[in-house]
Amino acid sequence: MIRASHPEVVVIGGGPAGTTTATLVAQQGRSVRLYERERFPRYHVGESLIPETFWVLDRLGILPQLRGGPFVEKHSVQFVSEQGRLSEPFYFADYKPHESSQTWQVTRQEFDQLMLDNARRHGVDAREGVRVLEVLFEGGRAVGVRTVDEAGFEEEVRCRVVVDAAGQSGLILDRLGLRQWDPVLKKAAIWSYFKGAAREQGRDAGATLVMQTAGKIGWFWYIPLQNDITSIGVVAPFDHLFKNRDTKDLEAIFTEEMARCPGLQPRIAGAERVAPHRAAKEYSYRSSKVAGDGWVLVGDAFGFLDPLYSSGILLALKSGALAADAIVAGLERGDVSEAALGSWGPGYVAGLERMRQLVCGFYDGLNFGKLVRDHGHAKPLITDILIGDIFKGDIDALWPLVEAAKEPAAV
Ligand SMILES: Cc1cc2nc3c(=O)[nH]c(=O)nc-3n(C[C@H](O)[C@H](O)[C@H](O)COP(=O)(O)OP(=O)(O)OC[C@H]3O[C@@H](n4cnc5c(N)ncnc54)[C@H](O)[C@@H]3O)c2cc1C
Repeated sequence: MIRASHPEVVVIGGGPAGTTTATLVAQQGRSVRLYERERFPRYHVGESLIPETFWVLDRLGILPQLRGGPFVEKHSVQFVSEQGRLSEPFYFADYKPHESSQTWQVTRQEFDQLMLDNARRHGVDAREGVRVLEVLFEGGRAVGVRTVDEAGFEEEVRCRVVVDAAGQSGLILDRLGLRQWDPVLKKAAIWSYFKGAAREQGRDAGATLVMQTAGKIGWFWYIPLQNDITSIGVVAPFDHLFKNRDTKDLEAIFTEEMARCPGLQPRIAGAERVAPHRAAKEYSYRSSKVAGDGWVLVGDAFGFLDPLYSSGILLALKSGALAADAIVAGLERGDVSEAALGSWGPGYVAGLERMRQLVCGFYDGLNFGKLVRDHGHAKPLITDILIGDIFKGDIDALWPLVEAAKEPAAV
C-alpha cells in the first residue's frame, strides 16, 4: 500500500511542464506530489502561446478558464523585415478553421497560477516554497528526492518516478552529464515591458510581431498583453549583444538595438517602459535522452529552443502529456524502466528538430515572402510549424524549399 508520505510520482517544478505532467498523471488516478521552490504568482518570461497548445489545454480541462480570463486573444503571427516592411500575416484560422486556431498571449504570473490551481483541483499535492535539493539514486535508478522548505526543514521523499520539470535549472541534466549545447543557436535576449505601444485593431490586435534588426543580425518580439502592456525583447547572437560593446548596461544595449529596428521605432513612439530590463543567456540545448530508470525530463529541463516561434510552452505541454501517459502506463505494468518511461522520446525530438530547422532557416536569411510566392504549397507547411503541428513527417518536404529561399545578409 502507498502511504500518503510516499507518493508514486514526484514532480520537481510548478511551471507549465510540471503542472501538465502532474495533472494528467493525477487525472488517471495516481498519487502525485509537486514541489515548487517559489510561491506563486511569480514572474516568468515566455508569454506567447501557439495554437497546438489547445489539445493539451483541453485535456487539462483548463480551456474554459482561459476563455473567461484576462488574456489577449492571438490569431496570427507577422514578420517585419529589416527595412520595416510587413509580411502577409499568417492567420492560423485561414489555414485551419477550428477553435484551436485562436490562442492567447498570457502573463505567466496568471497563466502558471491557473495551471497550478488546476493541478490541485485534479488531486495533485502541490507544495510551494519547497526546493528540491537533489534527486536520490540507488543503483542507477531514481528513487526519490531530498527537499528543503522555507523553514530549513529537510526531508527525503521516496517515490516510483521522479519528473524533472525544474526548467533551465533542471537537476538531472548536468548531474548525469546529458546536456548537449546547440552548436548553432548561441543567442541571448534582453527584454522589458511597455505601456501604450501601438496596437492594431480587430483580429490583428493580439498578433505576435517578429521584427528583424539591421543586417538581419537579430530580431525583436512584440507581444501584446492585457492592460495595454506590450512585451518587447531583442534576441541576437550572444557576442553581438554582450561582447565588443562600450557598455554592459542592459538599457543602453536595448536602446541601441531598438534604433537598429525600423519596424519597432514607430510602434513605441510615445510608449512608456514600465518594468526593468531583463536578460537571458539562452543558449539552446537538449538532453541526450528523455528518461532513465525511474526518472523523466520534461519542458526546459529536457531542452530549450530559441524562442523565435514561441514554441517553449507548447513543448512543455506536449512533453508533459507524453511523459504523463508513459508514467501511467509504466506504473500499471509495474515497469518504470528507461525504455518504458522514454518511449515517446524519438517522436518528440523529431518534432522539436523540425521547429529548430525553421528557426535556423530564419537566422540563415530565409525570405518567407519569396518562399511562399515561389512555392504556394510551402505556406501550409510553414503554417504547420508556426502553429506547432510539428509531430508529423510530411512537413519534411519543406526543407529543400527553405534551402533555396535563403538570402544570407550582405556582410
Ligand atoms: C527570452 C525568452 C523568451 C521566451 N518566449 C516564449 C514565448 O513567447 N512563448 C513560449 O511558449 N515560450 C517562450 N519562452 C520559453 C518558455 O519560457 C519556457 O519554455 C517555459 O517556461 C518552459 O516551461 P517549464 O515548465 O519547462 O519551465 P519553467 O516555466 O521555467 O518552470 C520551472 C519551475 O521549476 C521551479 N524550480 C526550479 N528549480 C526547482 C527546484 N530545485 N525545486 C523546486 N522547484 C524548482 C521554478 O521556480 C519554476 O517555477 C521564452 C524563453 C525565453 C528565455
